[in-house]
Amino acid sequence: MFDVEDLYQQVIVDHSRKPRNFHTLENANRKAEGYNPLCGDKLTIYMRVENGIIEDLAFEGSGCAISVASASLMTQLLKGRSEADAERIFNAFHEMVTGADQAAIDDRELGKLKVLAGVRRYPSRIKCATLCWHTLNAALSQLTETVATE
Ligand code: ZN
Repeated sequence: MFDVEDLYQQVIVDHSRKPRNFHTLENANRKAEGYNPLCGDKLTIYMRVENGIIEDLAFEGSGCAISVASASLMTQLLKGRSEADAERIFNAFHEMVTGADQAAIDDRELGKLKVLAGVRRYPSRIKCATLCWHTLNAALSQLTETVATE
């Protein structure tokens, strides 16, 4: 017997205490800072994007367990994925934590991010869970030195 909620809680606690990819990235070519004044969560996303692929992804910062766990899970999931994948997963994640119609969500891509589904019941924590994603989006939309002309 195990309680799914407890299991989810364990994953969040584990990722908040031992965040994965928690460091700067020396060869990053994208970087953005995010701040959630409602809670005080602050983080910096570092990424190296080559030919539309997120080759490496890391973060630093401080914040509540939800914000740190969410960023940790996000970096794990998106490393090696394309920018288009990241956008799709972001939309599915956003829908999961804010959307009214849970049945409409394609959660096949969400993987471990599903442990954060419970934040939808706590509106004040939704910004904690989505901060890293908004920061990632800001980093992705930065102009790079190499402009693609296709
Ligand atoms: Zn927070």
